Amino acid sequence: MTDVNAVEIRDTEEPKLDRRGGILKVEACGICGTDARTFFNGDPRAPAPWVLGHEPVGVLEEVAPDADLPPGVERGARVFLGSILTCGECRWCLDGFQNLCEHHLLYGYEPFPGAYAEYAAVPPIAVKNLIPLPPDLPSDLATVADPFACALNGVEQLDVQLGDTVVIVGTGPIGCWQSVMARDRGAAAVYLTDVSKDRLELAMSIVGHFVDDAFVAGEDNGVNEVMSRTNGLGASRVSVAAPSKQAQQAALEMAAKRARVVYFAGLPKHDPVSPLDVNQLHYKELVILGAYGASHRQYRITMDYLDRRQEELGRVVTHRFSLEHIAEAFETIRSGTGLKMVILP
Ligand SMILES: [Zn+2]
Ligand SMILES: [Zn+2]
Repeated sequence: MTDVNAVEIRDTEEPKLDRRGGILKVEACGICGTDARTFFNGDPRAPAPWVLGHEPVGVLEEVAPDADLPPGVERGARVFLGSILTCGECRWCLDGFQNLCEHHLLYGYEPFPGAYAEYAAVPPIAVKNLIPLPPDLPSDLATVADPFACALNGVEQLDVQLGDTVVIVGTGPIGCWQSVMARDRGAAAVYLTDVSKDRLELAMSIVGHFVDDAFVAGEDNGVNEVMSRTNGLGASRVSVAAPSKQAQQAALEMAAKRARVVYFAGLPKHDPVSPLDVNQLHYKELVILGAYGASHRQYRITMDYLDRRQEELGRVVTHRFSLEHIAEAFETIRSGTGLKMVILP
């Protein structure tokens, strides 16, 4: 990216090998909503000219002598690099909640250039984040490990149990994967809802066979649709995978008594306060939880799950672009005609 909304493919020097780092020959790198927002609106942490890309998979071509590789990773291995770079030493890292690390940094943002490139440096702090790929898992599919592991964190917080009625509000890649996971965890019914009819139809064409029913969230944000499908009881699990205050409030209204509600998506930083009817919480004894990022354990589970369910989960990757066509990829995200996109350098 050479400026806001401007991109160029340049020949650059190969990244330098840090004394304790590595070099990745990039095979695929996911492109997500955060990348598109950075590209179209700019971000102080990505000062142009800047190389974006924080969901890379590649071959670990070089490893510095002092690099401390995690178990199962060696030079020449195909690896995924988790984008949340954690300190490994704070209370939360030690407790296994690396997503909540006090000192975490993001790969693909200053000071770490990203991986929309043929070669990318693995900075020392990222070495412990390298995850080996199962041999049969295609590199393009493995790039989704990042958003997928976050979706898994949301489903674990939701604690879907055998017999639950699950509503997923928002049908981007996260919502689609969550519907598959909810079904795998034994949900009796899975419903999808979204404000966009087109997005909902696209989602249903991909994960429709895991879903009992899907409906456009109209004036009431889908509350009546849920109530009519649950004999007026409401849903026992609601995941809000959309950054919307209306959706957050509607989730409380469509929740059954003693339901769990997970707010998966954050709100814009400048406008984070959401008015909620707290009496819903009180009289229905609801549990509301948040979910952010993913832990190393969840990344590990994700790789195995992606490998086992390649066909179903891989359908969410709707577009692949070469590095030369990356501008087209950003446009496709903006147009909302695709779900998950991957760049193949
Ligand atoms: Zn991302
Ligand atoms: Zn930490």
